[in-house]
Amino acid sequence: MENKKIAVFPGSFDPFTHGHKSIIDRALPLFEEIIIAIGINAEKKSFFDLETRIKWIKKIFADEPKVIIETFNTLTVDYCRKKNANFILRGLRTAADFEYERQIGQMNKHLLEKIETIFLLTLPQHTFISSSVVREIVKYQSDVSKFVPEIIAAEIHKSYTIEVK
Ligand code: ADP
Repeated sequence: MENKKIAVFPGSFDPFTHGHKSIIDRALPLFEEIIIAIGINAEKKSFFDLETRIKWIKKIFADEPKVIIETFNTLTVDYCRKKNANFILRGLRTAADFEYERQIGQMNKHLLEKIETIFLLTLPQHTFISSSVVREIVKYQSDVSKFVPEIIAAEIHKSYTIEVK
């Protein structure tokens, strides 16, 4: 039987942004299934709790059966092996991203030979968007609607009583 083309898109998605959404949308024609895999790191506390992050991503892809949302707390390659995924999907914004991803991608290939990391270049309008910048904006109670999907922005604005001008 031919192997199903499954990609794992690992990340913290704290929170999920337009940048992440665009990478998934553009990768959908390339794969039969994309697993958005939220890495759980016991030592690194997230800003948005896990259940909230999962709920938001599930809402966004409610009508897309090829996208699955899961969590994992192992090495990414071990998770890929378990899921029978041959591809890791990542987004690239800057040269700094590239240098970071190069090391991880080469290490993952070393650990699991069948794995290919597929990189999609961010769209120019998403280059400056990162989850950490969104968190910073939330901390200062400002509008995040330009950076995250609408349903996420609406919930953040409500929970943090952010007024949209
Ligand atoms: P990690 O902590 O693994 O970097 P993130 O949730 O920050 O987790 O990012 C997950 C993936 O999404 C990474 O490949 C990252 O490069 C990519 N990504 C994040 N923001 C953007 C963006 N604005 N445009 C394109 N890709 C992005």
